Parts: sequence; structure tokens; C-alpha cells
Amino acid sequence: MNPEPEEKLLALAGNPNCGKTTLFNAITGAHQHVGNYPGITVEKKEGFISVDGRRLRLVDLPGTYSLTAYSLEELVARDFLVQERPSVVINIVDASNLDRNLYLTIQLMELGIPIVIALNMIDAAQSRGIEIDAAELGRRLDLEVVPTVARSGKGKDVLLETVARVASEPRDWRPIHISYGPDIDPVLDRMEADILEAAFMTEDFPPRWTALKYLEADEQVLARGDGIDPNLSARLKSRASQVTEHLEKTLASYPEAIIADHRYGFIAALLKDGVVQRTQKADRLYLSDQLDRVLTNRFFGPVIMMLVLYVVYHFTFDYSEIPVQWLEAGFSALGGWVESVLEPGPLRSLLVSGVIDGVGGVMGFVPLILFMFLAIAFLEDTGYLARVAYMLDRVFRTFGLHGSSVMAFIISGGIAGGCAVPGVMATRTLRSSKERVATLLTAPFMNCGAKLPVFAMLIAAFFPGDRPRIMFLLTLFSWTMALLVAKLIRVTILRGPSTPFLLELPPYRLPTFKGLLIHTWERTWQYIQKAGTIILAISIVFWALMTFPGLPESRKDSFEAERGATLAVLSAELRQSVSDGEKPGDLSADLEQQWTNARGALDGIDGAEALAGLKHSIAGRVGLGLEQVTHWCGLDWRTNVALFSGFAAKELIISTLGTSYSIGKPREDRDLPLSRRLASDPEWSRLKAVAVIIFIMLYAPCIPTVTCIIRESGAWKWGLFSMIFNTLVAFAMAVLVYQGGRWLGLGTGS
Ligand code: GDP
Ligand code: MG
Repeated sequence: MNPEPEEKLLALAGNPNCGKTTLFNAITGAHQHVGNYPGITVEKKEGFISVDGRRLRLVDLPGTYSLTAYSLEELVARDFLVQERPSVVINIVDASNLDRNLYLTIQLMELGIPIVIALNMIDAAQSRGIEIDAAELGRRLDLEVVPTVARSGKGKDVLLETVARVASEPRDWRPIHISYGPDIDPVLDRMEADILEAAFMTEDFPPRWTALKYLEADEQVLARGDGIDPNLSARLKSRASQVTEHLEKTLASYPEAIIADHRYGFIAALLKDGVVQRTQKADRLYLSDQLDRVLTNRFFGPVIMMLVLYVVYHFTFDYSEIPVQWLEAGFSALGGWVESVLEPGPLRSLLVSGVIDGVGGVMGFVPLILFMFLAIAFLEDTGYLARVAYMLDRVFRTFGLHGSSVMAFIISGGIAGGCAVPGVMATRTLRSSKERVATLLTAPFMNCGAKLPVFAMLIAAFFPGDRPRIMFLLTLFSWTMALLVAKLIRVTILRGPSTPFLLELPPYRLPTFKGLLIHTWERTWQYIQKAGTIILAISIVFWALMTFPGLPESRKDSFEAERGATLAVLSAELRQSVSDGEKPGDLSADLEQQWTNARGALDGIDGAEALAGLKHSIAGRVGLGLEQVTHWCGLDWRTNVALFSGFAAKELIISTLGTSYSIGKPREDRDLPLSRRLASDPEWSRLKAVAVIIFIMLYAPCIPTVTCIIRESGAWKWGLFSMIFNTLVAFAMAVLVYQGGRWLGLGTGS
């Protein structure tokens, strides 16, 4: 026989960011090899070490929070553990985040594999006032627990000695047995007995573990089971679905949630009395827990949450109103000044209708966005936003989403005033790709900072005085739509189980004033930059689309002839002053009346000509063509033109509306704010305003968002899908509201 000792296999397992890679590097030094797991892109790192002359092969598993088949990483880690059967798994646990990290440990222990715990980041834990009695933890878990600081290499040698010892000492590694409560335990027992009797996959998995996977509807295990023993597999599945139904009925819950609850309960009990000591900051944590008793209370929690969100609205809208008016007045004055110094013509039109109206419409709302971001930053920095996610998890799960989807929704404008671009990026924290895509597709329904100005303007025009209340209703509506559509997606094209909630609740803290200002300013500045660059450029493009090609000469001539006819009936002295628009001061009452009538007629002709020009323009023709369909939901061609531009960036809706409604209006009307212009427009009504708001809320995301959706989902098809699908949803809802409203006899007058 060869006297050389056999090579032992070790694996490193742990949550993402627990310091696995750092420890791996510290242990193996330069002796490592980086490749991929066969057939997939998950990175596989291997290294060799020798301890006491024995050669050990060390594999760095992907970081995971659990061992279910929710993600590729989890599957890879699990398959490796089950198939390669390492002599010892080094489970790295982040000491500063002990309870959450032990969740994986529990699952490793349920697999019944040999484990040594590296209690890493004890330095970070200490600096956060957490002291852990490693020996006591080891006694309670019946495992070796070695404190380490991977970054400095501290504890590394003790860890290796311990691992080498455990690898060579015989021990019966029995799977740990956790109670999952009176509803699940008896079923688990029965399933376990069936599995044992048939020796069903017992080569690879402990029987109770297999039973648990059937309860969790783990796709991989189920598929394997179906292949090995279809009858038994079907029986186990039917037992599992009975429990699921029962839990649904009695606890309004489902197996995975109950299983997760019991694992956390087990961990809480494990750490009670004497394992974890909080030194400093204990008061703050205690206070946090006390606060959470009220703030996340089953009854008071949601009530307080609604109140908080309502206050955010009042704060944002009431306090931003005054600076918003200043800015509007400023831009309007600037437009007036340019008109007074430049001759009428394309340049003046470009500057006034394209640049100043376009950018002014956007910049005018900076105060609103600033206040909204300030409110969000406050909720985020205090730690309350994480509680909102926690409380909403139950609701979200019902709709096939995840508690973490809340962040994406809120950032996208769930508390009105966000932006779907960072919102879409926030879906990265979601582990299940189905939940992620469902969130990606519905987050753009939220009322982002760019839709707000349009809503605010329409509300000011048609529901004056009701702003906070209506905005609140609109927010509720967009949430409802997002959840319903998510559910629709999750029971049709993206069917599949939901993943359990794992999110830390950081202790509450009072935000610093400086921190709030920085967060608020960063986001507001992003908005301003967008307004200053992309939006300016696109405003100009749309101004061109709305201006060219000009009216044919013959049409211009006929408007000119009308003007001539109006002027021809006047006396010579009046003619000049009417066409200049400057009324002489010394007119008799009769002449003054003549002057006013003629001037009014001329303004009317100017307006009609400009309107004809817009209709004749490229954008006007597209908008007119679409009117065939969009009149079903009350959208006229000018609004179509605005929505069309809004696809480039939602901010443009307001500026394009502003432009198309300022073209073709008598001069004195042009100085009115857009809301006043629409309110007095006979084609508009409250009902139409509501239909337009709903369409804008739901239709295709803007181009930057679509780009992000493609990037985050890794597939073109989801970008295209969001454009087409969301527009169809918007159209259907707007038609429903508009036709329904007309049927009820609404929609006349404002
Ligand atoms: P992985 O995702 O588990 O591979 O984690 P990494 O090894 O990439 O480590 C995540 C971060 O934690 C890095 O910034 C490390 O420098 C840091 N880190 C790792 N170990 C320790 C430790 O023991 N103490 C402290 N303070 N930081 C650590
Ligand atoms: Mg790593």
C-alpha cells in the first residue's frame, strides 16, 4: 500500500460578504486556481495547502444565504456539498451579523456534513459593541468555533489546525433536528418514514432534509425525485400540498415562511443568555427594539406607515409651492424678455418655445423634487424605510413579489418623486430572477419625479385645492396597479414559488443634517443634469418636429388674406396701430371698440395659423394619426405629441404640452401658466385629465429606464416587453376610466 496519506477536500461556505475570499487568499496564498463550475459562469476557486505534511484541497463556494434552489449560486453550493462530500466545510460566519449568518449554518447542519465555524470579522463586531463567546457558541452548536480576522490573518493557523484535526477524527455527523412546529413536524415525520422505507435518495440527502425540500417545493429535488420514484414523489408532493393548504387556511402563511420562522427562532434561542454581549450602543439597540414594538406592530405599524407617507406628501407639496411659483414666474419673465428683444421668426420660436419653455417646465419643479428627496432621505437614514419593506413583505408575497421589491418601488416613485432608473437598479438585491423581472416590469408604474410635474399641473388645473389628497390617491392607484399586474405576470409568464424574506433591520438612528443634505443634493443634482443635457437636446429635437415642415405658401397666403380683410374695413389711422398691437391713448369709445374687435380677430387668425402649422408638422401628423385610436381614452393629438416625446424622457411631457399649447394661442394667453390654459380649454375636462394622468402613469417607461431593464434582466425581450405591455395596460386602463366616466355622465365641464 502507498503510505502517503490521501488528499482531503475542504470547502469554504458562507454568506456573500462574510470574508470568504479574503480568508481563502489568506490561507492559500498564491497557491490557487480560478476557473468556472462546469457549464456555468459561477466562478470556482481552488487552492492547495499542507498542514502537518498532509495535503488539503480547498474550494471557495459561491456566497449564499441559504441552500434552496432559488439561485444558481445556491444550487452550485448545494450540489458541491452533496456530490463531492468534502471532509470538512469551513463555514465562515460574520460575527457582526451573527443571527443572519447562522441561518446558513443551520441548513448546513441539517445536511449532516462535517463543519468547522470560522467566526470572522470579530474586529468589526467589537467595534460595533458586540462581544461573542466563541467557546460557548461552539458548545451549544456542538461544533468547533474559531474566531478569525481574515483581513489580518488572525486566527488562521488555529483554524487550519482545528480543521486538520476534525478532518482526521472520526465522528458521527448526524443531521441536526429542528422542530418546525405542530403543523409541519408530524407531516415531516411521516414523509421521513416513507423516504427511509423506500431508501429514496438517501445516498445523497438525509431523509428529513428531502422531506423539507418537498415542503419547500424545491424544483431540483422534486425533478430528481420524479425521475427516481414517480409514485413516492407524487405521494410526497400531495402531502406537501395538503400542509400548504392547511397553513394557508389557519395561519394565512406557507411552508417556507413557517420554516424560516422556526429557523430564526432556533437561532434566537441558541444565542440567548451568554453568547452575545452588547457593550456600547446597547442602549440604542434596546431603544430600537422598543421602537420596533410599536412601529412594526401588526396593527399600529401599517397605520403609522400610512400616516408617515401622508405627512411626506403634505411636506413635499405644501412647502415647495412657493419656490415653484418663483421659478415659473422667472422663466415666464425670461421668455417675455426674449420675445421683446428678438424679431419674430424661427430663432425666437426656438429659444422661447424650444429652450426656455422646455427647460423651464422641467427646472420649475426642482424645488418639489428637492423636498421629496429630502423626505425620502430622512426615512432612509433613520432606518424607517427598511421597516416599511419588512411590513410590506406579507402583502408583496401575496402578489408574487418579495419584501425587497419595496425598495425598487419606493425609489422608482412609490413615495411619489423617485426615478425608475435607480429603482430598476435596486432590484439587484432580489435573488429570484422571476421576482426580479416582475419587479422590473412594474416599478415604472410608480410616479417618478418626472411624472409629478404633469400630474401636479393637471391637478392644479382641474382639481385646485385638492393636491395632497389627489396625489395620495394617485399613489395608491399606482401601487394597486403595480401589484395587480405583478400578480398577473407571476401567475402567467413568470410562474414560480416565492423566496423567503431576509433583510436586516438596522437600528434606528437620528440622521445627521449634513447626511440628509448630501443625499438630497446628489439626487436633485442628477435630475438637474438630466434637465440641462438630455432634456435640452430632446426639447430642441421635438421643437423641430413640431415646427417643420412649415405651412405651404398657399395656406400662409390665405391666412394673410384674412388678415388683410380684417384690416381693410378699418380707417387708415387705426390700421397701423392694430397691426402693431399698440392702442393709441386718445381714441373715442366707438373707435376703441373697433380697435379691440379687430385686434381680437387678428390674434384669432394668428392662433389658427400656428395651430394649422403644428398640425401640419411631423409630430402633429403622428399625433393626429394616433388620434384614431387614442380618442377612445380621450387623448387628443396634442397630448399624443407630448406622450410621444415623454417616451424619450418623462420630463418632456410637461414641456411638450407647454410648447404645443403655447403655439397657436393669443399672446396674453401665452403668459398664463399651462394649468390655466388647459383649465379654460373647451377640449379638456376633469374626466379627460384623469384619463391622461392614468395613461401617463402606466405607459411605456422612458428610454433610460428601458435600457436599464435590459441590462438588469440581461435580456432584450424584457425591455421590449415593458414598452409594449405597459402601453397596452395604460391604454386599457385609460379607456376603461374615460368610457366608464362618460357612461356615468361625467366629463363635461371642468
Ligand atoms: P466574500 O464576499 O465572502 O468573498 O467577502 P470578501 O472576502 O470579499 O470580504 C468582504 C469585505 O469584508 C472586504 O472588504 C474585506 O476586506 C472585509 N473583511 C473580510 N474579512 C474581514 C475581517 O475579518 N474583518 C474586517 N473588518 N473586514 C473583513
Ligand atoms: Mg468572494
